[in-house]
Amino acid sequence: MTNSTLITRIGELVTNDEDQGAFAALGDAALVIQDGTVAWTGPAARAPAADSMLDAGGRAVLPGFVDSHAHLVFAGERSSEFAARMAGRPYQAGGILTTVAATRAASDAVLRANLRRLAAEMLGQGTTTFECKSGYGLTVTDEARGLELAAEVTPEVTYLGAHVVPPEFAGDVSGYVELVRGPMLQACAPHARWIDVFCEDGAFGADEAAAVLAAGRARGLGARVHANQLGPGPGVRVAAEAGAASADHCTYLTEADLDVIVSAPLVATLLPGAEFGTRHPYPDARRLLNAGATVALATDCNPGSSFTSSMAFCIALAVRDMRMTTKEAVWAATAGGARALRRRDVGHLGVGARADLILLDAPSHAYLAYRPGVPLVAAVWRDGRLAAGTVS
Ligand SMILES: [Zn+2]
Repeated sequence: MTNSTLITRIGELVTNDEDQGAFAALGDAALVIQDGTVAWTGPAARAPAADSMLDAGGRAVLPGFVDSHAHLVFAGERSSEFAARMAGRPYQAGGILTTVAATRAASDAVLRANLRRLAAEMLGQGTTTFECKSGYGLTVTDEARGLELAAEVTPEVTYLGAHVVPPEFAGDVSGYVELVRGPMLQACAPHARWIDVFCEDGAFGADEAAAVLAAGRARGLGARVHANQLGPGPGVRVAAEAGAASADHCTYLTEADLDVIVSAPLVATLLPGAEFGTRHPYPDARRLLNAGATVALATDCNPGSSFTSSMAFCIALAVRDMRMTTKEAVWAATAGGARALRRRDVGHLGVGARADLILLDAPSHAYLAYRPGVPLVAAVWRDGRLAAGTVS
């Protein structure tokens, strides 16, 4: 094959073949990258010749992680709030306003530098596709600015004007909703692919969330919802009615919510970093999986409730504390994330997939949970090119 790279002697090649909808892997395998896509996978002994060859030495190769939920456009940090919370003060959504003030006050250069640092941090840890939300500007110009910056680093840009009601609209939620679904949407829609709402007590209620999502859909944006994070509520139902790709958090689900997730269908995107960072109970992943739901894992990377960019950390939490198997957790962090973003070209390594892959310094995917906190990503390819790490 011309213009091709053969990676051979792969101890475990996680392919997550599209048609199976579940974890799939080959032992003693090889993979050929050609023109940025996966051109061949199979037993190492039957690998075709290629222009260049790389010996994985028995190590594992996985699809690049797909982080389908992150808030990366912000300034400042909230480590003292985290420390206070760990010392016993409960988390409240209002903490977001601290970051809103810092973000509004920051220059484009400061926001861009922080965003790029986090994007590079993600890539170095194996995340090759990520979603990025606005939501710390909350004015027409600040939200549009956040989305323009996000679009510099990812195509998966989400307009989250309905993150929290800003202080200048205190006591006037409906006035703010009109802004979000009117002039703010007008300014933001050209820079975004998705629209999201924080549907929760203390944020936006069912009717408000539905109105925002409907306006976004009318402008061609796909819907996603922050749903049922802090308590039971209408988020999952609102997401399904809006035709959303994903309901995110899903920490408090009724039986009716579970039925809606399975039948809509909605991807249930679980964000265990948020429960870790707020010491809340983890979502019941087993209940979702046993009901037949499609589950994704994502970081929720943000400076308040979950300041991690590590998908490996989320996999470890999901396995240890949410009783997902190592296979289920890795699938959810790759193919599950792709489904939450309605992408078919990433999250798996079937022939024709984008050649986004991770070489682990370990023989098996299980090491991601078995060796928590240890940097195991040796090298990362994105679009078929080595983008981080080394291959020696
Ligand atoms: Zn979030």
